[in-house]
Amino acid sequence: MRICKLFEAADPVISFEFFPPKTDEGAEQLLATVAELQGLRPGYVSVTYGAGGSTRSRTLELVARIKREIGIETMAHLTCVGHSRMELAEIVQQLVDAGIENVLALRGDPPKGESEFRAARDGFTYASELVAFLRQLGAPICIGAACYPEKHPEAGSLQHDLDALRRKVDAGADFLVTQLFFDNEDYFYFVRRAKEVGVTLPITPGIWPITNYKQIDKIAQLCGARLPTDLRTELEDVKDSVEAVAGVGVSYALDQCRDLLERGAPGLHFYTLNKSPATRAILARLRHRG
Ligand code: FAD
Repeated sequence: MRICKLFEAADPVISFEFFPPKTDEGAEQLLATVAELQGLRPGYVSVTYGAGGSTRSRTLELVARIKREIGIETMAHLTCVGHSRMELAEIVQQLVDAGIENVLALRGDPPKGESEFRAARDGFTYASELVAFLRQLGAPICIGAACYPEKHPEAGSLQHDLDALRRKVDAGADFLVTQLFFDNEDYFYFVRRAKEVGVTLPITPGIWPITNYKQIDKIAQLCGARLPTDLRTELEDVKDSVEAVAGVGVSYALDQCRDLLERGAPGLHFYTLNKSPATRAILARLRHRG
């Protein structure tokens, strides 16, 4: 099913994001993790696309297997990194042939050590070009795109980033998924500003339940996400206990999710880091409350 259809129903669209493991064994473990989350009735799960190398073909393989073997709707992430138009068209054809109906169209990051993104030969510089290309191909797919409540790190200003987002939407994106963030006010402000530039598509907030104290600064810096002072203090107070850190992370994300849904967010997209306990705990408590 196309994800755009899910947004037409009244229920929030819950989704889980995974990354492709490097080994066959890892892939089997991931399938087991996805199966464990099936009981939470996700609308779909998505699998990220690596910066290069062998995991790229695993993205295709995993979205196809999750859909076929577990029966959950899937979305394949796809980036412009290192791909010509012809290669991108071939990948999309493979996805369509495998019955995949949803693609998250992304630009991708510059390779490590480079500050600027450079298009591959006969490739694309911006995600909006990939979205337009996918539309031009006429592939029977629903197209998602990324957006950034705290602006994309390379963008000069939020307004500049919103103008770029508008181009992506005009090119044919069907729905949006945000970068992780920790302050819901950033999300709601962004949604308001997006509406002002004419972006009225569903904007699903990206939730990252913190489970590892050592990771937080690296991830927050990489994604340009601000960690609120109160949350940082709470985490620092318990940093020596893995369980207590996860407890703080889950409880914070749970409050975030409740507030987001109560105030009208169209769904929740969980960055699972290929693990299920935090996401399960949050959703179980969200639904228990009814
Ligand atoms: P774009 O929309 O092209 O934006 C990139 C930058 O260019 C922004 O600063 C934007 O303001 C600017 N810009 C856009 N269009 C124009 C224009 N016409 N003129 C001037 N400036 C412009 N990365 C992966 O490698 N694999 C993944 O699977 C993956 N999944 C992701 C999932 C989500 C939900 C999110 C939020 C991000 C994901 N990323 C992934 C990271 C993403 O690839 C990076 O954030 C990347 O730097 C930007 O991708 P984009 O599609 O948002 O790019």
